[in-house]
Amino acid sequence: MSGTCETCGALGEVFVYALPGIPMSVGNCRACTEQCAYPLSVAEANNDCIGGLENAADWWKQSITYKDGRYLTVEEAFRDA
Ligand SMILES: [Zn+2]
Repeated sequence: MSGTCETCGALGEVFVYALPGIPMSVGNCRACTEQCAYPLSVAEANNDCIGGLENAADWWKQSITYKDGRYLTVEEAFRDA
């Protein structure tokens, strides 16, 4: 399938799959799929849902998202938020 990556915005081949731990599917490019990266908006929504990063499980803090042009862990991306 061709489209826009929901995580990094790249145009090209997009793989749609369900996100681990979150009842949503996402269309990611190959690079984001290999990282299993969460779109930043999804990561943000999940942080809100669990009441903030301080309540997050370790697996979630170590999950990958994409911010300011690079891959970061959720912890790195939202530490200063
Ligand atoms: Zn991507």
